[in-house]
Order: sequence, then C-alpha cells, then structure tokens
Amino acid sequence: MSSTLGIIGYPIGHSISPVFQQAALDHCQIDATYTAWEVPPEGVGEFVQGLRQPQTLGINVTVPHKEAVIPFLDEVDEWATEAGAVNTIVHREGGRLTGHNTDGYGFLRALREEANFTPQNRRALVLGAGGAARGVVLALLRDGVGRLDIANRTLARAEDLLELAQRRDISGQALPLEGQTLTDAAAQADLIVNCTTIGMTHGPDAGGTPLTRQQIPATSLVYDLVYNPLETPLLQEAAQAGAAQLGGIMMLVHQGAASFEMWTGRPAPIAVMVEAAVAAMTARAANEN
Ligand code: NAP
Repeated sequence: MSSTLGIIGYPIGHSISPVFQQAALDHCQIDATYTAWEVPPEGVGEFVQGLRQPQTLGINVTVPHKEAVIPFLDEVDEWATEAGAVNTIVHREGGRLTGHNTDGYGFLRALREEANFTPQNRRALVLGAGGAARGVVLALLRDGVGRLDIANRTLARAEDLLELAQRRDISGQALPLEGQTLTDAAAQADLIVNCTTIGMTHGPDAGGTPLTRQQIPATSLVYDLVYNPLETPLLQEAAQAGAAQLGGIMMLVHQGAASFEMWTGRPAPIAVMVEAAVAAMTARAANEN
C-alpha cells in the first residue's frame, strides 16, 4: 500500500514542500504521496489523531499550527521543546506520534554545507525577533556562536530573545532595526541573518531591505531567510557589498530534508530537492509577473 505524507497549515496554498518532497520520494523510488492539507485551527486535534493510521509516515506542520499540535503528540524532542514549536511529526511503531523541529537544524546544515560557515566563536547579527528568529538564535547558541546581537522593529521582543543568549553567558545587545547602533553592529558581524519579513513578496515591506550595501561588510556572510523572491533585495545589497550570500530556499530544503530522513530512514537527495524547489519558485515568480 502506498504511504501517506504531507503538510498541514492554514492557509497552505503557498507551500512548495509538496513539490520538493514528492521529487525526493520519486527520486528514491519510495511509494508515497506527499499532500498539502488546509486544516482550520478547530480541526487540528482530529487531524493529528488520524495520523496514527498505519499507512501514514508523518507530516510537516506549518503556520499557524506549530504550537497547536503539541498537546496531541506522545513525545516532543529537545529542539521542538526549546523552540516551543513542532514542524515535523513522525509516526512510530504502534501508532505513537513524536514531534520534532527541524528548522534550527536545517538552518545550521544549510550554513555549513551550502556556505561552508561554522558559527563557533563568530559574531552574528540577527535581524528580527519572531518565530523564525527564535529558531535561528537557539541554533546559533547551540553551535557555539561567540557574540549575538539582535535587532528588531519592536525592541522589547529583541530584548526578550536576547535573554536566551544571556542565560548562556553569550554577550550581545538588543537594538532597534535602524540607526547608528544597527550600522555599528553590522560593521562587526561575521554573519548577518535576516529573519524579518522585509523583502518578502506580498509581505509588509516587499522590495525593501533591512540593510544597505554601505552597511554590509565585504567579509561577512548574509543569510536571508526570505525565499520569495529567491534573490531578495538584501541579497542584492550583499552582492554589491562583495559579501557572501545564502538564500532562504536552502534552509527550507534542509529543514525538509531532515524531516524526509526521519520519515524514511534514507539520506535526502538534497540536489534533487533544491532543483525542484528553485524551479517551483521560479515558475511562481513568472506567474506573478
Ligand atoms: P513572524 O513571527 O511574524 O516575525 C516577523 C518578524 O518580521 C518580526 O521580527 C517583525 O518585527 C518583523 N517585521 C514584520 N514587518 C516588518 C516591517 N515592516 N519592518 C520591520 N520589521 C518587520 O514571522 P516568522 O515566522 O519569524 O518569519 C519571518 C520570515 O522568515 C518570513 O519571511 C518567513 O517566510 C521566513 N522564514 C523562512 C524559513 C525558511 O525555511 N527559509 C523558515 C521560517 C521563516 P516586530 O516584532 O516588530 O513585529
């Protein structure tokens, strides 16, 4: 019998996970179908219970259900507990369901494998303090980052997030997403990660960039979590500054690859997944123009 995999969200039409996950399953000749399910908040509990059926291998979970699924699971791993969010559910023997969060792992794996960058003892500047920034901050701390500055439009949220670093005795400051303090922090950063929605197509500041080329050191790596468009205004500024760049599509694929490996026990065909994801985003951009 063919196995079932998929992703739940509300809405879900924007997700390209079905494209690159199905490409990976087909490439590995795994008899499984990866589906996108639009599940309203009131339907989450019943949906998760249904995953106990034997043909289900697991699912991905996206906005707004990453916290809501937790009470319906039998076990939640350390990454997901720390993040307070589950993006992967795995069906185990006996119908048990375990919750995981591969966002931070995917972020780090893309950093290492695609950009050859190790955070240990390096200086990082994180832009944003929402859900994605929390995952990134936890991952950087886990990998031994040397200093961590967090800039956000709402300063209080950056201060809250910075507490995670302070608890581990990692120095850094919370700062506004503008002005001289931001310019100074950027000037000293080895790694700059954009976790805001600035630059995202259809977002609140589509076409915008949180930093200009004059603020980006040529020696830094700029990692933009935004993947629509693939080449964001911030990445263009980074290129003009002579800095290295990494696009959010790589994190998206690597977090999905980690889920794939948990469900199937097989190594994920990363190149196949990247190719499918980039093709899907390119086709979407062509349709939008
Ligand atoms: P979120 O929780 O809603 O956080 C949004 C962040 O953006 C907050 O820091 C918010 O600042 C800031 N922001 C929003 N509008 C702004 C504006 N006009 N000017 C300045 N700052 C603004 O969202 P999220 O889940 O963290 O996602 C953030 C981005 O990361 C999205 O573009 C998402 O697509 C991307 N992402 C990518 C991946 C990947 O795999 N590549 C994974 C997760 C997320 P305030 O606190 O002041 O509101």
